[in-house]
Amino acid sequence: MSNTMSRIALARRPQGAPLPEDFKLVTDVRATPQDGEVLIEVTHLSLDPYMRGRMDDVKSYAPSVDLGGTMTGQGVGRVLDSKAGGFVPGDIVTGMTGWASHACLPGAEVRKLDPALPPSTALGVLGMPGLTGWVGLHTYGKPKAGETLVVGAATGPVGSMVGQLAKQLGLRTVAIAGGAEKCRLATETFGFDAAIDHRAYDDAASLRAAIAEAAPNGIDIYWENVAGQVLEAVMPLMNVHGRIPVCGMIAWYGGANIADNNQLPGIWRSILVKRLQVSGFIIFDHWDQYPAFLKDVAPKVAAGEIAYLEDVAAGLDTAPEAFIAMLKGGNTGKQIVKL
Ligand code: NDP
Repeated sequence: MSNTMSRIALARRPQGAPLPEDFKLVTDVRATPQDGEVLIEVTHLSLDPYMRGRMDDVKSYAPSVDLGGTMTGQGVGRVLDSKAGGFVPGDIVTGMTGWASHACLPGAEVRKLDPALPPSTALGVLGMPGLTGWVGLHTYGKPKAGETLVVGAATGPVGSMVGQLAKQLGLRTVAIAGGAEKCRLATETFGFDAAIDHRAYDDAASLRAAIAEAAPNGIDIYWENVAGQVLEAVMPLMNVHGRIPVCGMIAWYGGANIADNNQLPGIWRSILVKRLQVSGFIIFDHWDQYPAFLKDVAPKVAAGEIAYLEDVAAGLDTAPEAFIAMLKGGNTGKQIVKL
C-alpha cells in the first residue's frame, strides 16, 4: 500500500477572484494515526463559498489557511486505520479532512454516517448547507403561511433547502438564479412559484421590476445569500416588519471594497422605515441543532419530499477549477469533488 497522500495547498493569496495559480497539488508522506485518532481515506470533498474567505489573511469568524497549508474543508471517507474508540476500518465517516486524499483526525471530531444514505448527502442537503437553511429559516426568517420569500443562489444547497421548506410551510417562493436552466430547475425540481434569472438584467432597477412582478404582495423574507445587485433590487420591495436572514454575500466575496459602497444609506433607511429584522448568522453557533435537523429532514430526503442536486467533479486535482467555477455560478447544485 502506498504511503503517500495528495493535498491541495494554498500557494498564494488571491487578489479578487481566485486563479488556478493560487493552489498547488502537493504529495506528502501519509500521517500515521496516533492514540485517539483515525486515518481516513477521503472519497468525497465538499467545496463551499466560505472557503474563499479562508484564503485571505484577514480577521474573521474562523482562522485563515496558512500559505502552504491544506485548503480547509469537510470530507467524507472510509476509515483505513483507527486508534480511536468507536471506529473500525471500513466505517464511513465525515470530518474536516481538508482538500486531501487522506486525513488523520481525532475521533472526537469525526462522525459516523448512516450507511443507508448516500455519503455525499452529508456534505450538502443533510450536511452543513442543509442545516444552515433549516436553522436560519426557522430562527431568523420566522416564516408564516401566506407570506412571500425571495432567495438568491436558489438552486444551491442552502437556497434550495430554504425554498423547499418555505413552500412546504405555505409561503410564496421566488427564486433568483443564474441562467434559464437554473430557473427551470428552481421551479420544476425545487417547486419555487417563480424564478428570475438575475444574469438577464443589466441593472438593479430592471431586476427589481421582474422581482416585483413575481412578488405582487411584496417580500416578507429576503434570504440573503448573494448581496450585490440582487440586494439592491430587493430592498425597496421589502414589506414592513420583513425579515432578512443574512447568510452570505457571494457577489462581494473577494475584492469589492464594501467599505466604500455608497448603497449603504439607502439600505440603512429601508431597515429603519420598514422596521426590518436583519439577522446575520453563522452556522457554527447552531451545531447543537444538528440532531433535530437530521431527525426532521433525513426522512423527507429519503421519501423524496426534499429534492437536492449535486454537481460532482472527478479527482482531487480538479478541486481548484471546480471551486473557481462555483464562485461564479458554474455549479448546478451542491459542488462536490469525488476522489
Ligand atoms: P451555491 O452552491 O449556491 O454556490 C454559490 C452560488 O452563488 C453560485 O452557484 C451562483 O448561483 C451564486 N452567485 C455567485 N455569484 C453571484 C452574484 N454575483 N450574484 C448572485 N448570485 C451569485 O452555494 P451554497 O448554497 O453553498 O451557499 C450559498 C450562500 O450561503 C453563500 O453565500 C455561502 O457563503 C452562504 N453560507 C453561509 C453559511 C453561514 O453559516 N452563514 C453557511 C453555508 C453557506 P447562480 O448561478 O444561481 O447565480
